[in-house]
Amino acid sequence: MSDPAAFLAKHGVRPSYPRLKILEYLAGTKEHPSAEMIHRDLVLSLPTLSRTTVYNTLRLFAAVGIARELRIDETEARFDADMRPHGHFRCRACGRVFDFPLTPGIEQPALPEGFKLERAELSCEGLCPACATSSLPLP
Ligand SMILES: [Zn+2]
Ligand SMILES: [Zn+2]
Repeated sequence: MSDPAAFLAKHGVRPSYPRLKILEYLAGTKEHPSAEMIHRDLVLSLPTLSRTTVYNTLRLFAAVGIARELRIDETEARFDADMRPHGHFRCRACGRVFDFPLTPGIEQPALPEGFKLERAELSCEGLCPACATSSLPLP
């Protein structure tokens, strides 16, 4: 993303400073953070940033199609700025969310006629390699 301000403006989002910082954060991480996680990191350099602003900004990004909200974690929404088709794997031990490529053809669910697909998300859960080989007791 060479010009985040122009990128936001192109999507009809006024590029305020907090929005730019949130976009940069989200585009620069593979962690699929929650609003809480983003707020915790950004508030260090932006003390006036409220959790509500972070959450509202993420919802706005999702609404205009520059981020997606993942329903992979039952306790909190996680966000991803990578809009290319890919699936997600959540480790139930460490809580990290990993990307994985989709098998060709799986992006298009075989829906019967009449259904209008608006959102498809492939979410899996299990143990990541580090947790699967760990000797610590699992929750
Ligand atoms: Zn793990
Ligand atoms: Zn992802």
